[in-house]
Amino acid sequence: MIIESTLRPENALSRTTVNAGDHYIGTVKRGQTLRILDLEGNQAADTLFFSADDTSERYSAMDTVREQGAVYLTAGTTLMSSEGRAMLTISADTCGRHDTLGGACASESNTVRYDLEKRHMHSCRDNWMQAIANHPEFGLTKRDITHNINFFMNVPVTADGGLTFEDGISAPGKYVEMVAEMDVIVLVSNCPQLNNPCNGYNPTPIELLVWDS
Ligand SMILES: [Zn+2]
Repeated sequence: MIIESTLRPENALSRTTVNAGDHYIGTVKRGQTLRILDLEGNQAADTLFFSADDTSERYSAMDTVREQGAVYLTAGTTLMSSEGRAMLTISADTCGRHDTLGGACASESNTVRYDLEKRHMHSCRDNWMQAIANHPEFGLTKRDITHNINFFMNVPVTADGGLTFEDGISAPGKYVEMVAEMDVIVLVSNCPQLNNPCNGYNPTPIELLVWDS
C-alpha cells in the first residue's frame, strides 16, 4: 500500500548515510519515526530490531505475518516482537511492499547457492556481526542474529507457495517509514550481495532519518 509521509527531511533529528555494503546500529526511542530511504533504488536493507530494554525480545517475522494475515510488509503493518508485542508500526511506504521471508545472505549461503569461490564475499551476516562486535554497548551477541526484514527486497510468493528472489520493485527516492512503539535497537546491513538481483547487482547507499514525536 502506497502512503506518502508528511515529515520533512529538514526537520529530522538525525540523518545518517549508510554506504553501499556497510552497516548501522543505533537506538530509536518510543514515539520517534524512522525512515529508511533507498537513495539510488533497488537496494535491499536487511534489518533486525531488538527491545532496547531487554534484547532477548526481538523482531519476529512469524508473529508479524500471523497477526496481519499477510506475508508482505507495507504501510499499516505492525512489526511484532517475539513476546507478541508491537515494536514498530509502518506509517508510510512509497515502495509498496517489503520481504520478511527470504532471510539474509551469509558466506555459507553464498557458497551453497553460488560457488565455493563466493565464500569470501562480504555478506549481511558478516555486516551484522561486525556491527555488534564494534558496538558491545548494545549487548548483542551472535545468538541474537536471527530472521530479519529485507526492506525494499522483492521476494514474491507464487500461487503454489514458491519463493524467488526477483529484480527489485524499489526505485531512487523510495522510502519506508515506521513509528517506534517501544525503545528499539535498529541493526541494518546495507546488503553487499552481488550474486542475485536483490541489489540490481550494484549495491548503493541508503539513508536513515529519525524524527522526534
Ligand atoms: Zn545481503
